[in-house]
Formats: sequence, structure tokens, C-alpha cells
Amino acid sequence: MPAASTQFGPPRHLPAPAAACPQHLEQAAGFGQWWYDPQTGVTHLSPTAAEYLEMPTRSASGLGVCLGHVVEDDLPELIRLWTGAQPQHPLDIRVIGLARGLRWLRVTPLPTDPARPRWRHGLLQDVTALTHAAVRERLGYALTEYLIGTHTLEDAISNVIQLICRNLGWEWGAYWNMEDGGGRLHCRHFWHQPDARLEQFSAVSSTLKMAPGEGLVGRVWATGSAEWVEDMSTDPRFLRRGSAQMCGLWSGYVFPVTYVSDNGERHRPGVLEFYSSLARQPEAQLPKVSATIGALIAQTAQRLETEAVIHRLAQIDEMTELDNRAHFYAQLNRHCALSHRKGRRFALMFIDLDRFKPINDAFGHEAGNAVLQAFAQRLRELAPPPARVGRLGGDEFAVLVPDSGDEQALAALADAVLAAASRPISYEGVALTVSASIGVSRFPENGQTGPELLRSADAAMYRVKQNGRNGSNVFSTSSPDTLAQQRAKLAQRLSIETELHEALQTGQLRLVYQPIVDIATGALHGVEALIRWHKPDGTTVPPDVFIPIAEQSDLIVDIGRWVLGQALRDLASLKGSALQKLKVHVNMAASEFTSSALPEMLGAISTGLEVPASQVVLELTEGMLMRQPEQVRRVMHQLREIGFEISLDDFGMGHSSLAMLKSLPISSLKIDRSFVRDLATGERDRAIAQTIVDLGRHLQLEVIAEGIESADQLEVLGQCGCAFGQGYLLGRPLPLPRLIESFLDGRSAADTPARVPAWKPPCPAPAVAVPPMPTAAAPCTRPLRLARA
Ligand code: C2E
Ligand code: MG
Ligand code: MG
Repeated sequence: MPAASTQFGPPRHLPAPAAACPQHLEQAAGFGQWWYDPQTGVTHLSPTAAEYLEMPTRSASGLGVCLGHVVEDDLPELIRLWTGAQPQHPLDIRVIGLARGLRWLRVTPLPTDPARPRWRHGLLQDVTALTHAAVRERLGYALTEYLIGTHTLEDAISNVIQLICRNLGWEWGAYWNMEDGGGRLHCRHFWHQPDARLEQFSAVSSTLKMAPGEGLVGRVWATGSAEWVEDMSTDPRFLRRGSAQMCGLWSGYVFPVTYVSDNGERHRPGVLEFYSSLARQPEAQLPKVSATIGALIAQTAQRLETEAVIHRLAQIDEMTELDNRAHFYAQLNRHCALSHRKGRRFALMFIDLDRFKPINDAFGHEAGNAVLQAFAQRLRELAPPPARVGRLGGDEFAVLVPDSGDEQALAALADAVLAAASRPISYEGVALTVSASIGVSRFPENGQTGPELLRSADAAMYRVKQNGRNGSNVFSTSSPDTLAQQRAKLAQRLSIETELHEALQTGQLRLVYQPIVDIATGALHGVEALIRWHKPDGTTVPPDVFIPIAEQSDLIVDIGRWVLGQALRDLASLKGSALQKLKVHVNMAASEFTSSALPEMLGAISTGLEVPASQVVLELTEGMLMRQPEQVRRVMHQLREIGFEISLDDFGMGHSSLAMLKSLPISSLKIDRSFVRDLATGERDRAIAQTIVDLGRHLQLEVIAEGIESADQLEVLGQCGCAFGQGYLLGRPLPLPRLIESFLDGRSAADTPARVPAWKPPCPAPAVAVPPMPTAAAPCTRPLRLARA
């Protein structure tokens, strides 16, 4: 056999046409040529053809020699073509050589040369790149079809393994991923060509577990890079060497399935491995193919993720991640049906947050959302599955408590929910507080269906709201009328709360002042600042209506701050006038008096406006004292230290003990107007008034009687020794300029004390009549007078 040479074409004795094609032309055009003599069995190859077939020689007798690197499966057909035993059309074959791994060649027979009819002649082209592109395209198409139809990634992957094996000529393929909670990789799916005897290899693979970094699979998982294994039976990284050898597996390719999801997170769901019984060399196309597979799996994973999100959104309340209304209702109905069948009981807890709306209004929706999310999280922790927790909308939540036979456990859960609601929620440095009202209904006693149970729990909850909120209540039958009334009241209260917030922002609140006079001298002793709410529609809302509502939310703190600021600004405006030393009484709400920030805040206002603290008398009621005595007392002492005076309002209505009164840093008592009303006729009330006056004298407190409407009442109070009085008789509440006008009318001296007529003229000095103090409701029955100095 002639040695391979660089001479182009068949030996010299061959006809000219073949020799006419120069070697460089053949290489540039990407083909080689072969000639075969069927009589002698000799094959001649052009240099390019020899290179394609990885043949060291260009001539050989015997096809087995020159086609030695052709994949066995492709040989029979190739030989038929080579020898002219089959129709003459092109054939693609695979060649595996040491130098270039697996490649695809296209063998195209050429027509017989009439001059040399014995010789078979043809072309060889390297179509590896084309074939790979076609395979990738075919594979990609088939994979897409599989992945589109799948509902889980796992299902898709077992199909993907088959496809890759069939298209890329691997005999065995598998997918490995992390076992649940185990921290080790296991062979999740495997597949082999049906005619290959690879059961033993599959069995070994399916029992093997690898830690990340262990074996070839573990290593690929850990590094995220693909690996080739050229000889499975000797490669020390390959843990299944013995089994591979036994089953005749030789080489393979292992690559990670990775993708990056929309949020930028890199996912590595698993590792794919493919093995062949051929000694395949690293193939340049495989990284591209595995990238295509990774991308397709990524698309599928993302689609599945999106589907999961859509599914979740249909059931989950986005803000709190609890069951949404529709899903909770569906679960509740399902639970009713199930409990009915199994004869079980369960409870439904309906929870409504108190004072949530004012937080939303005052601090904004972000703050409101923070409250809802924090409370939802607390609820989830308190009622883990199988309980179901849902947000029914706004600030309404519900908990389905299965198998709730245990009364005590249910009561404990309700208490825990109340405690969880009232734990402050921190938002941008502010501690927001709410509370909860809970209504509980039970299956089957309070309802057989979801809507019935919800109605009962809702009714029980409204009763809690009605009774001052922050509590829980188990449903008991209540008339629908009462319920309707309760709802109407609640709705009215909520609307007042909203409007009040706006009123504060838009200047609908005003202060009026009512005189407090020295009964003996008729002198103006001080004024009480009383708030008025004039709505834009011309109506006014009395403080008795809106103050208790404001007290149930943090609004009262803002209102209180406004009242104090306004009252002190008004006082400051009196500087240099006859009333510059006037004392102003300001009513305080309970929640203001428990705030340790009050003294500092008040001190700052009085310093800022240069109004001495001693001109400000803070009124608080006995009731406030009783609620949190220690805290209130502490604040009272601090206020007194700064110089503010404190007056106990509506005295006689509460239950303050003598001992308590003695210990309080107060400077005056105001006899409640209910005792003044029947003073002229009722002996009992007269005795009470006398007792309060005596008490004040002993404790060295000023006593002021409220609500004096008649001269008789004033007379009796004077007889009792009551020093100061306030009431329509002495003056109705008026805006400050009008009050001043009434008092200072006709005066010139700046420092003359203002006076009102005493019940009995204190001295014969002639008094100057001042005009009556007009009000819209009723004219003042007795004109105020200003005594001349
Ligand atoms: P209060 O502190 O006991 O105020 C006295 C109330 O008696 C005032 O009612 C006043 O207009 C009314 N009054 C005065 N003289 C007479 C009279 O001769 N006969 C009758 N029947 N009533 C008289 P008003 O202004 O409606 O205030 C009611 C309550 O609202 C106040 O009772 C006080 O507790 C509260 N309030 C008023 N302004 C404020 C405020 O700025 N802040 C706070 N927290 N509460 C306020
Ligand atoms: Mg008062
Ligand atoms: Mg009062």
C-alpha cells in the first residue's frame, strides 16, 4: 500500500479528471474524494479525505482499514454506497477519531466516469457543524414542545433526558438534584436506550448519593461548570467506574442546569449527565447544546414560577400574605361541609382593628400598611396551620380555628390576639398603637354555613365595639334591630373621626372663652377655654359629641396640642391690656395626661409664647385620675414643678377619696353642675356643695361652681362660701375679642380688674353697666358689670 504523501489525487495511473482538482482547492471547498476499485477492493483517498477519515495512509485494500474510525452502526450502509450496491444518493456517517472526536461526514457518490467505468468515485464533506446546528434546532424544537406542556419541572426533565439521548446519540442519561432536606444529591430521573443493557448502571446510580463536591456529579453541582469524562472505567472522579465498565459505558458529559430568574437570582436546580459506550472525545458543540437546554429549562422554570405567582395571587392577600377574602370564604365553606360530615366543631374568630383609620389618616397609608402587615405576622404566629388566617379586607381579619372544643384554649387565643394587637408597632421611629375587637362564632351552634358563621361572629364583634372596643365576645343571639342601630352608631362615629381629622387640618376648630368670676367681688377671675367645631356646612358639633370620639383615637393628642397652643396664643395677645394677668383654664383629655411628653411640650409652648405657666390651669376630671392614677400623678407633679396649675373638673361625680385629694398637687376643684342645678330647692345638693366648699377650704383649694344659671343658685353658693362661679348667668362662652369687648367696654385704665355683679353687691361703689353678653342661643339673663377702680 503506498505511503501517504502530499501529492494530490489518486495515483498517476488514474485518469486525468480527478487529478485536475488541486489539493488547496479541495480544502478550500471543504471536501475530499475517494475512489474504489471493486475488482481489487483497493480504496484511494485524496489527502483531505484521508484527514476526514483519520487515515494515516491514502490507499488501502480492504474497506475495514480505511473506514476503521466510522461508527459501527453507520458502516453497513456506507459500504453499500461505497461499493455501488445501493442507490446513489448522499449518506451522512459518523466518525470517531482520537484527534477530533465525533464528527459527521457526508458521503456523496459521483456519477461513474465513462472512461473508467469500473471505479466508484465520490466526495466526502465534513458536515459536523451543519449537523450540530440541525440537531440543536430539532432538539430545541422538541424540548420547547415538551416544556410548554409540562406542569412541573421534574416531569419536563425526564422527557428532556430522553430527547437529548435520542438526538445526540447518548445511551444513558440522568438528572440529579438535592434530596429534600438531605443536603445530598440523588439521581432523580434516568433513562437509557431501550436496546442498551444498562439496567445495572441505572440501579447503581439510583442508590448512590453524593454530597456537593463529591464525585463528578457533586463536583459539577459545586462548581457550576460542565465536565467531560473520557474513560469512565479509569477516571478517579467517576464513582461508578466498576458498573460503567461492566455495562460497557465509556465516555460522557456532565453539566449543570442553571438559570437566572427575573429577580436576578441564580438557580441551579440540578445536574444532567449523559454517557455513551463509544469513546467520544470532548465535542465542541456540547457546551452550546447544554446552554440551549439550560435556557429552555430556565424559560420553563420562569413560566412555572409565574403560574405559581398567579395561582398564589388568586388566593393570597398581597399585602399581608394571608388568605384573601375569596379564598378564606372558600376554605370556610369547605370546612363547614367537612365538619358537617365528620361531626366536628370549629370556631370562627372575626377581628377588627380599633383606631386603624385614624392611623391611616394621620400617618398615611404606608403607616397603615405597616400596621396591617405587623398584625398579620403576629396572627400567623399565634394561629399556625391547621388554623387558617385570612384578611377579609381593610382592617378586618378572620381566623378559622379547627377542632375548637377546648373553651379555655379558644379564650387564651382570643386574649393572645388582643395582646398582639395592642403591642406597639414601630413605623419610622413612631410607635403606632391599635387594639382589636374580636367576635367569635361556633360551628354548628351559631351557623351551619360560612356566611351564617361570619354574620354571627361579625355581630359578636360589633358588640365589643359598642362596649368600648379592645375585647372579645362569643356570639349570642341578638336582635337584628339592635345590631342595625349599633352599626349605624359606629358608622356615624367613624365618619366623625374622619371629618374631625380634616377639621383640625383646615381650621374648622375654634376656641370660645367662658368667664370664671369671683362671687364675692364680681371680678373676672379667669376664663375657661372651650372648643367649638364649626363645620363648613354651617352646623356646629358640640364637644360632648366629638371629644369622646377623639379620645378613642390619637386625634385627641393633636386636638389637645392645638387647644393649648391657641389658648396660650390668645393669652399672649392680651399682653399690655387690662386682662394680661388673666388665667385660662384648659380642659385636658385622659390620654393627654398620661403622656410623659406633656410637661415638656407645654413648657415649650409657654416659654415660646412668653406666657407664664402660672396663668394656665389644666382641668382634668376625677375619672381620668382613677384610670391610671400613678402615671397621671407623676405628670401632674411635673406640671406643677414647671408652674402650671391643675383643677379637678366635674368634682363630685367621681370617686376620689379624701386621702387621694390630699396627695394630689391640685390648686382648685370645680363643683359639677349637676349639684348646682337643684341647689336652690334641694337640701341634699346644698349640703354637698357646702361639703365641697369646706373640703376646699381645709385643703387650701379654690372652689369653682359650674353651671350657675340663676340668681338663686348664685346666692346659695355665696352663702356656702363658694369663692368662684361659672355659668350662663355670669357669662356664656364667647370668642375672646367679644369677651374682652364685653369686659373692657368703656374702660380706660389698663390694670383695672374686670368684674361681674356679685350676688350681693360687695360694696356700694357705683357699677358701670356693660352690655349683656349676647349669644345666638339665649341672651344672658344678667348683664356683666365692670366695677370702677
Ligand atoms: P366642662 O369642662 O365641664 O365645661 C363646661 C361645660 O358646661 C361647657 O360645655 C359649657 O359651655 C357648659 N356650661 C357653662 N355654663 C353653663 C350653664 O350655666 N348651664 C349649662 N347647662 N351648661 C353650662 P361645652 O362647651 O359644651 O363643653 C362640654 C365639655 O366638653 C366640657 O365640659 C369639657 O369636658 C369638654 N371640652 C370642651 N372643650 C374642650 C377641650 O378643649 N378639650 C377637652 N379635652 N375637652 C373639652
Ligand atoms: Mg372644664
Ligand atoms: Mg365641668
